[in-house]
Amino acid sequence: MADCLFCKIAAGDIPSNKLFEDDQLLAFYDIDPQAPVHFLVIPKRHIDSAAVLTEDDAALLGHIYAVIAQLAARLGIAENGYRVVTNVGADGGQSVKHLHFHVLAGRSLAWPPG
Ligand code: 5GP
Ligand code: ZN
Repeated sequence: MADCLFCKIAAGDIPSNKLFEDDQLLAFYDIDPQAPVHFLVIPKRHIDSAAVLTEDDAALLGHIYAVIAQLAARLGIAENGYRVVTNVGADGGQSVKHLHFHVLAGRSLAWPPG
């Protein structure tokens, strides 16, 4: 999608610090980390947010969570735990309108979020 930051990152037009990539998704470190470990997982295909997901996206979402589990094991954060969150819309705090999952770890995370 034109003028979408994460489409440009997925296409390699804007550089990112990549953790994992395949034909469907990309995982890369957040530019403004909110925890000692903070990376994002995005589908390469443009999807506005979780608000427009359908049953047809089930396989993609399963793949995203499987890759997150593999990365968590690889980065050594699985044992102590981590948080996966996707912000939706203005009240959800979504600033980039391309579906992405934050993975945060490396400190005890507060609940409820602010
Ligand atoms: P949101 O606020 O939409 O849930 O999350 C967007 C995230 O993207 C933020 O955590 C922000 O720091 C991150 N971000 C914004 N621009 C860039 C960028 O150019 N590169 C990377 N790696 N992360 C970015
Ligand atoms: Zn996009």
